[in-house]
Amino acid sequence: MPDISAARNLYGSALAELGALVASLGEPPYRARQIFRAMYRRDALVPAGWSDLPAGLRRRLSERHVVRRPWVAGRRDAADGTRKYLLDLPAGGQVEAVAIPARERWTFCISSQIGCAFGCRFCMTARLGFTRHLTPGEIVGQVAALRADTGAPHGAYNIVFMGMGEPLHNLRGVMGALEILLHPLGFALRPRRITVSTVGLPDRIARLASLPEPPRLAVSLVTADPALRRELMPAARAVRLEDLAAAIRAYGAGRRDRPTLEVVMLAGVNDGPSHAAALARFARAARAKVNLIEFNPTPELPFRPSPEARVHGFLRSLSRAGVVGTVRRSRGRDIDAACGQLAFTGAAAERPAR
Ligand code: SAH
Repeated sequence: MPDISAARNLYGSALAELGALVASLGEPPYRARQIFRAMYRRDALVPAGWSDLPAGLRRRLSERHVVRRPWVAGRRDAADGTRKYLLDLPAGGQVEAVAIPARERWTFCISSQIGCAFGCRFCMTARLGFTRHLTPGEIVGQVAALRADTGAPHGAYNIVFMGMGEPLHNLRGVMGALEILLHPLGFALRPRRITVSTVGLPDRIARLASLPEPPRLAVSLVTADPALRRELMPAARAVRLEDLAAAIRAYGAGRRDRPTLEVVMLAGVNDGPSHAAALARFARAARAKVNLIEFNPTPELPFRPSPEARVHGFLRSLSRAGVVGTVRRSRGRDIDAACGQLAFTGAAAERPAR
């Protein structure tokens, strides 16, 4: 058995890093592509079994390296088929991720950090505080683990960065993960299958936009009223809404899929006619569409979901103002797997069959 603490974990390496590794072993560059493909495309985690590589190289890799991705430590299934996972990370720590079934394909909701630093008042993850950023391997490894558990075929799933954490606070980890997820020899996902959801950091949105293949963008606006937003999302108080609208508009320029504004509907807080009017103005300035999210209540939080009639009235105001809006139904609420509910509550209750 190799000593895992001393051995370097290859999982999460970029193609360029593997290129440097094989060069240092005197091997040609295409060996790096073979290793990359084995780990990410085939989810083959034992170097000794990489039979397209020469035995000598496999042996040398096994001596000095391990290949370890996050693995499922617990799973709970909701009545609607949604699955919430507790994942153990090879370097220590745990995160949660959620798989949501739809007719055509699964959606994997993954985490970018352990905990979160942003302290949004309506979110349970915020209550955990911030522990650390996830590495690219810890991010793509969640996708691999959920793919293995659900049996979702290659290409037949979407990814949303809507689990624990703020993805643009961990831009380096998320960009490293995107490279592996999009690479044809890796997960080979199309950029439109991936959505990065953010509290809305304008300069970081611009950096995401500068990628060769930017993913879809969702911004958790919650409200276009600046004072109310500062109250509900205290860590985002430095963000000027004009700058945010401009960054979103620039992101969407020249793309087919418009950015989305996510608005979690809080009864009597952000769901009135004046809020709808301000949101419509913001959405037009940002050239974005709107997704109204049902609030998932928990006893710890001082909010209630907006009544359905109010949500539909809100939607009609948006539509009269020329803004496209949809309502997102909550999924997996009975197992605390829904938006804003990832906070390690009972996730490990059932262990999956091995
Ligand atoms: N930090 C990122 C991603 C995680 S939150 C972001 O802010 O976008 C993902 C979505 O869940 C956000 O749109 C957030 O507004 C929403 N959300 C948070 N708590 C919620 C709750 N209790 N009920 C419903 N949606 C919630």
